[in-house]
Amino acid sequence: MVDFAARDIKIPANLLPSDGRFGAGPSRIPAAHVAEIASCNLMGTSHRQAPVRALVREIREGLADLLGIPAGYEVVLGNGGASAFWALATVGLVRNHAAHAVFGEFGAKFAKETDRAPFLAPSTVFRAEPGQLAVVEAVEGADAYCWPQNETSTGVISPVAPVAGAAPEALTIVDATSSAGAVEVDFAGIDVYYFSPQKAFASDGGLWIAVMSPRAVARVEELAGAGRWVPDFLSLPIALDNSRKDQTFNTPALATLILLRAQVRELLASGGLSASAARAAAASGHIYTWAQERAFASPFVERPEWRSPVVATIDFEGVDATDIQAALRANGVLDVFPYRSLGRNQLRVATFPAASVDDAAALTASIDYVVEALA
Ligand SMILES: *Cc1c(COP(=O)(O)O)cnc(C)c1O
Repeated sequence: MVDFAARDIKIPANLLPSDGRFGAGPSRIPAAHVAEIASCNLMGTSHRQAPVRALVREIREGLADLLGIPAGYEVVLGNGGASAFWALATVGLVRNHAAHAVFGEFGAKFAKETDRAPFLAPSTVFRAEPGQLAVVEAVEGADAYCWPQNETSTGVISPVAPVAGAAPEALTIVDATSSAGAVEVDFAGIDVYYFSPQKAFASDGGLWIAVMSPRAVARVEELAGAGRWVPDFLSLPIALDNSRKDQTFNTPALATLILLRAQVRELLASGGLSASAARAAAASGHIYTWAQERAFASPFVERPEWRSPVVATIDFEGVDATDIQAALRANGVLDVFPYRSLGRNQLRVATFPAASVDDAAALTASIDYVVEALA
């Protein structure tokens, strides 16, 4: 129940963040990047011609540089976002048996895809309660190990490392949708690192990007020759073929590509991945510390090492988080709602690289003001 008084609270302008967008995706996009959509003269032109292909090439090369991907790995892309990639991976990367770590909604969705696929064995799932971390363990016969680096629904971060004791040919497939570009990663022993661009890359949705190891590419080729029927739209061989030509199988959203390139350029120019990760960690660190210092708030994720540096989830006590949210929204501070199915008295704040520590501090000052006004 939203109290009518909540929406009438006027947060003083000097407390408000410079940009009120704190959503976990779509996330804030710098105004200068949006302006580039108009100024770069690419909108409304063919994605098969040199200018847009040069844009795609710069994205592929820029991501390789920014993420520090090893020699031989490829940056592959296609339409449909991370959710589409779950389908592509199910039909084009899992040979027979996938093992998953599930500790929130996004990890659960991929596990459901592989589990229900009629041509695969039932999936093995290592599960943890929301707010906790599950990690995969070696499973007899598993040929793909899958988990999210950052579980956006709960704000839990997972290590990304090879699975001890896994069969040598097994692939590791990491959902980096909300962590790529804002959390450091070591690709040793990691075969697929995929994401959508509307989170840390401050772009719009609709695209999937996957960094793939030579082993992953070999698995794609193996399964392509194994006779499994796959619609062209879900075909990884076709996606690979197009990506190598700096294209996509079907028409991409050019604005999404333009915004993605702008953010890749900006992250490269502002110190690269380690600097971006440090900024995100500082901004979320401020929010966690603030929550610990307030009687009415506490970090939802109890173990500090599990707390996400890019998505901070904060539980509230003695004050209704939906009232806080309503007051913030009335003052232009948007999208700090908890993940819909979690059902907690909670706020969730993204601190992707487009946000700053100053904005995080302004957000907590604004929440302090609202809580006081509601009391
Ligand atoms: C947002 C998100 C997704 C879904 O991305 P779409 O582009 O909407 O398909 C998947 N995994 C994680 C971890 C996410 O944060």
